[in-house]
Amino acid sequence: MAMPRHAQAEFESLSKRNPSVLDSLIVGARCAGSTLAIHLSRAGKRVLAIDASNLPSDQPLSTHWISPYGMAMLDELGLGDKVRRFAPPVPSMMYGLDDITGRIEYPAGGSCSCPRRTDLDALLLDEARASGAEVRTRTKLVRLLREGERVVGAVVEHAGLREEIRARIVVGADGPHSTTAALVGAEEYHGYECPRALYWAYWPRPNWFDEDPRYRGGAMNCTFGNDVIFVFPTNRDLLLIGVAFPKTQLPEWKGRSLEKLTETLRRNRYTAPLTTGQPASKAIGALKLRFFFRQATGLGWALVGDAGLFMDPSPGFGITDAFRDARALGRAIVEGEHQALVRYWRQRDATSIDLFEYSRSRGALGHNNPLNRMLYGKLAAEPELQARLLASQNRQCSPLTIFAPSDIKKWAEQAVLRGEVSVIEPLMEMSQRSEQIRAEIAYRERLAGQADFAPVQAAASDTPGSYVPGGHCAVGAGEQL
Ligand SMILES: Cc1cc2nc3c(=O)[nH]c(=O)nc-3n(C[C@H](O)[C@H](O)[C@H](O)COP(=O)(O)OP(=O)(O)OC[C@H]3O[C@@H](n4cnc5c(N)ncnc54)[C@H](O)[C@@H]3O)c2cc1C
Repeated sequence: MAMPRHAQAEFESLSKRNPSVLDSLIVGARCAGSTLAIHLSRAGKRVLAIDASNLPSDQPLSTHWISPYGMAMLDELGLGDKVRRFAPPVPSMMYGLDDITGRIEYPAGGSCSCPRRTDLDALLLDEARASGAEVRTRTKLVRLLREGERVVGAVVEHAGLREEIRARIVVGADGPHSTTAALVGAEEYHGYECPRALYWAYWPRPNWFDEDPRYRGGAMNCTFGNDVIFVFPTNRDLLLIGVAFPKTQLPEWKGRSLEKLTETLRRNRYTAPLTTGQPASKAIGALKLRFFFRQATGLGWALVGDAGLFMDPSPGFGITDAFRDARALGRAIVEGEHQALVRYWRQRDATSIDLFEYSRSRGALGHNNPLNRMLYGKLAAEPELQARLLASQNRQCSPLTIFAPSDIKKWAEQAVLRGEVSVIEPLMEMSQRSEQIRAEIAYRERLAGQADFAPVQAAASDTPGSYVPGGHCAVGAGEQL
């Protein structure tokens, strides 16, 4: 999708013709928008970031977990230690299915964290301002300005007053229900409805939480029966505790979500001791989620964060990916060529499709099956597999490469010889899905290649490595949720 020559010329001359034209107008100023504003401002660009909300405020749709890779990116921005100062480190994460559980240990020093979004988003916003960006809250995008096909700015509204703002590029960082995406008509692809609904609330963190061997101050993300139960130790001495359950059960939750949440958590042997007292919040729910990719750029516009790619939160990479993609988009904008934006889009897809598919498997209702129970057993027993799980969270390898297909086949055959024939059906399903995923990954890599992006690297990572999106592509058990 090369930009027509005349449009490119216009793109380059727009700000020269009119000095009041901004370099970038960013719609949405949370983890994607503020981070992009920081990168662009530090590169000397004139940036305005607006947000409809009265920031800083909580982002209700978040369970806060930031992966080691996400914390590394905060370090790169110079913000990691500031987060560590107010949010406790998360030393480990318990994973598992039913009674098969294990724990992934993170290196000491606060490589993972679960900061409340009020605090994290405020930090990013302050840094965006300190870097030179203008930030206006309670200001919403209403309409886009166009010259021909090209977006050249927007009409924004604050306290009932509307204003025209012209910018070389308008970036939608305005979340999954992105107004920007709707106004530019960004195409959605590879979308599906989430089969689960989630409810969670905050409980006080008991003073024995760090010493108790069941928790050791860590997070938890395990499947019990058909429910995924999670505990995220956040700041302000609170634990975020919740459940993701089949959406078909929603009628049972209607009108009594906190009561039902408490009942569910008190039935679980891990969350029961943590929820004996009163919660410190109401129940918060995510009831109807749709996951998708969206076209990430067009003439004069781009999308970043959930506005352009929204995946099952099971592995908890939304915040991390927002940081990662904001950095990649910032670089593409600074490069200034439309083709750089197209490369950003295609690279995002090529480096995200594996995690997207992995997350889909993790969130699927059939996740708790005999084959995955067997794989979780192997994971809990074998340090080498645990090391791969950790590497996948550091974005050094794909989560689809934790288990080698030849190992899965071998273990399944051994199970069948022991009479455990129930592994056969999920094995066949897994192999069919692996085929589809392989094809999808190959397609994304082809598109990335066509966009002049030769080697697909670890999610725009600066760290050299041999990241392969699909790798040996076994969709099995693994990390959290
Ligand atoms: C249930 C759930 C749990 C999750 N848990 C985790 C987790 O543990 N870890 C993790 O990494 N990720 C998690 N995620 C994902 C994570 O929350 C998102 O990926 C992340 O918030 C995306 O950030 P963003 O900046 O793209 O969008 P958002 O955080 O959605 O911010 C978008 C901003 O745009 C603003 N906006 C919207 N429309 C307009 C408009 N017209 N004009 C101006 N402003 C506008 C909004 O006010 C908002 O502030 C979870 C998601 C869900 C649904």
